[in-house]
Amino acid sequence: MKDTVRGWVRDCRSLCVLSGAGVSAESGVPTFRGPQGLWKQQDPMSLATPAAFEADPREVGDWYQWRRQRIRDCAPNPGHAALAAVEAAKPDFLLVTQNVDGLHRVAGSRRVAEIHGNIWVVRCTGCGAERVERDDFAKLPPRCAACGGLLRPGVVWFGEELPPGPSGAAMEMLSRCEVLIVAGTSAVVTPASGYAAVAKRRGARVIEVNPDETPVSAICDATFRGKSGEVLPALLK
Ligand code: NAD
Ligand code: ZN
Repeated sequence: MKDTVRGWVRDCRSLCVLSGAGVSAESGVPTFRGPQGLWKQQDPMSLATPAAFEADPREVGDWYQWRRQRIRDCAPNPGHAALAAVEAAKPDFLLVTQNVDGLHRVAGSRRVAEIHGNIWVVRCTGCGAERVERDDFAKLPPRCAACGGLLRPGVVWFGEELPPGPSGAAMEMLSRCEVLIVAGTSAVVTPASGYAAVAKRRGARVIEVNPDETPVSAICDATFRGKSGEVLPALLK
């Protein structure tokens, strides 16, 4: 089976990958769903929302500061590296990621659509200015030096629209890819949870890499129940 599946990936011209938090787990970045993702016993779902930020920007800013501290020293793992390497061999390729940690680019991936934004980007809710900031904020919640407005992370919160550029690129790729690899995502966050079905409906082969079963498993042509840092290098070799 593995050789057949490896052949699908090797021989296709157009390859799409959808990655989730699980791909960064072996780098030490906590996933949302799992005990490591909890902060002060709070569910991320109750913090990563516009309503939470409006109600308590300090608390949400504090949580992001904690997440950024945990991610700052994390390095890409062999799963990230395998995805960067396969990109070079494909004329048509897109890595659609729900991850906000930026590790795919650090690993060398270039054709990346960050559909949930990037945790190192900060955006002013007052004047809209955006910049990359890797350092801790001295004061929470952080404020804009220019206008005094509250600064928020450049990520997509639950209930918010996806950025049109990356999500448009993702939809276009799903409408033409021959193979879709879905790696390290619980596939419960919309709209990415529907991406596999979109590709499958038009005849793409769908391959899942995840130690656990997910809602997408049932429609997959192949599933690998293992860690992405081990499975992806073997699959993409
Ligand atoms: P999730 O936390 O909901 O699910 C993680 C999935 O990864 C699970 O299905 C789990 O079984 C699987 N997994 C765990 N370890 C793995 C491994 N070693 N190899 C492969 N799979 C593994 O993550 P999600 O589906 O990406 O959705 C969560 C949301 O949270 C997204 O919106 C994302 O933007 C955000 N988030 C991002 C990061 C990050 O940037 N690294 C981390 C946490 C959450
Ligand atoms: Zn401002």
